[in-house]
Amino acid sequence: MNKILIAEDEAPIGNLIRTALEDAGYRCLWTPDGQTAADALEAEPFDLALLDIMLPKANGYELLEYCKSLDVPVIFLTAKGQLEDKVKGLRLGAEDYIVKPFELMELLARVETVLRRCGKTGRVLSLPPDIEIDTASRLVRKNGLPVPLTAKEYDLLLLFVQNKNIALYRDRIYERVWGEEFLGDSRTVDLHIQRMRKKLGLEKRLVAVYKVGYRLEI
Ligand code: CA
Repeated sequence: MNKILIAEDEAPIGNLIRTALEDAGYRCLWTPDGQTAADALEAEPFDLALLDIMLPKANGYELLEYCKSLDVPVIFLTAKGQLEDKVKGLRLGAEDYIVKPFELMELLARVETVLRRCGKTGRVLSLPPDIEIDTASRLVRKNGLPVPLTAKEYDLLLLFVQNKNIALYRDRIYERVWGEEFLGDSRTVDLHIQRMRKKLGLEKRLVAVYKVGYRLEI
């Protein structure tokens, strides 16, 4: 299980990120200032650090240097419109940046991408009690037995497992999995979700949300 450090002095944002990442299966530590973050980095190994730039005691750039010395990849959280921050952050060696305010789906996607790129990804995600997803081989097992999914069904399953208990809009699901703009025909999404959840016996847990889309309940 990957462990992520969050350094963010705005408590509501820090808590939101922590909850979302924990729901997606990561272990997290939220720290409200740069000094506490540095102490935590020194005390235990982390696979990734999400760093706000403007932090009390030590700012994000200073923490980035510290992370680099410990081989911990960094994603910066920057306020909207701070283009200079983004450029500077990337030039100094951050893996990515996220502009606040952001959508949780985007945050999770970027976290996953950076972990994979840096070779830190936990290979196996689980959907208790009986489903396991090996993200390296893209194999899905239920009760230890392989379940053959199409590429789109696999991508859908991964999206829901990474966004448990969140109602996902059909158009956003479409854009994430099909990679193109949604043009209003939701039957494609419905068809693929229905087939995927039937193969995995998720009919009672991957539920339709009226006028929205779908939600995976745990
Ligand atoms: Ca801040």
